[in-house]
Amino acid sequence: MNISNNILLAPYTTFKIGGPAKFFSEVKDQFDALSAYDFARKESLPVFVLGGGSNLLVSDKGFIGLVVKIVNRGIEVLSENNDEVKVRVASGENWDEFVNFCVKNNWWGLENLSHIPGSSGAIAVQNVGAYGQESKNLIESVTVFDTQTRQILSLKNSECGFSYRSSIFNTTLKGRYIIFDIVFVLSKQPKRILNYRDLQEKFSGKIPDIEEIRKAVIEIRNKKFPFPTEAKKGNAGSFFKNLQLAENEFLKLCERVETEFGLETLQKLKTKVFAEEEVYKIPTAFLLEICGMKSMEIGGAAINQNQPLVIINKTGDATASDVLELAKTVVQTLRNRLGLNVQIEPELLGFSKEELIDLGRMI
Ligand code: NAP
Repeated sequence: MNISNNILLAPYTTFKIGGPAKFFSEVKDQFDALSAYDFARKESLPVFVLGGGSNLLVSDKGFIGLVVKIVNRGIEVLSENNDEVKVRVASGENWDEFVNFCVKNNWWGLENLSHIPGSSGAIAVQNVGAYGQESKNLIESVTVFDTQTRQILSLKNSECGFSYRSSIFNTTLKGRYIIFDIVFVLSKQPKRILNYRDLQEKFSGKIPDIEEIRKAVIEIRNKKFPFPTEAKKGNAGSFFKNLQLAENEFLKLCERVETEFGLETLQKLKTKVFAEEEVYKIPTAFLLEICGMKSMEIGGAAINQNQPLVIINKTGDATASDVLELAKTVVQTLRNRLGLNVQIEPELLGFSKEELIDLGRMI
């Protein structure tokens, strides 16, 4: 295992932003992981585990610690019968290439999760979901390296604490485990999830095959979310999370929207809200739109007009400070005008507590 010094992190992120890591190491297995953590312990350094860098904003100063880049590869069928296939994917595999592989094999389940940037490991960290599918519905287990006990463990789905866009890996046990692979159980029988409006409109009553669903999701996402490999100047996908409110919170929001923006806007908001099991799902993109933030820019960073949940590195030389200032403006505007605390999605690396305070988020 090699440890390099002073490696610029911007090229390792899809935002193309960020200063250097003091130390940097590529890790492909548990032996590399052990050596890396031994080194960090000896030097008293914090460790940051980097996957595809698609959900990450690195500070302009960089990170005074060890960045561990996961580079393991491999896809393996563990078992199959007429109905199901159990397939293991290494966390360093590119997610969308893995989805494409499954779709080509006619294995159902992941097609609605097409065209999501990043590496496969990140899918379990965030319990990534889109268009009515969530990774937790398909994950059987996750193999991890436990940095405390220094052992390899297989965590069952029920041990991963999956909920909306979260898991133990980004909440209670953040930083403890390195994900090495994920085992998915996929169906060999068609299991179409087409109830989201965007997909309904695409197919309007037709029964698509798996390849057609993947193609449709790619077309829809290409319009809304600039896929980082194509949006060369950079972005980190969705920067702000959609909101989930309890009924009393939703009623308060309705009052605020009516007072601030009028009855017509309130009625429009109501057509965009989804109520599921007493949880009200509110599209944050709509709130940004009514607050007039759809084309806001600070320095080289801008809100993406087609899907304002995304912040783009518009000029190609945006700084992390530009992005952070823009994000803070959005968070504070939604707080002041609507009384809402919108959460941000990306990991933030190398920022001080003071820099993040106005985001309502601590490191
Ligand atoms: P959208 O499809 O306009 O949906 C906006 C909001 O309405 C979301 O909270 C979504 O819930 C909900 N929603 C829409 N149709 C629904 C239905 N038929 N039943 C229940 N809830 C419904 O969202 P978008 O911003 O353009 O994003 C498209 C998809 O990609 C969404 O599913 C979004 O969540 C997903 N996405 C995921 C991530 C991530 O996992 N990190 C990042 C970006 C976007 P859900 O969020 O539960 O789908």
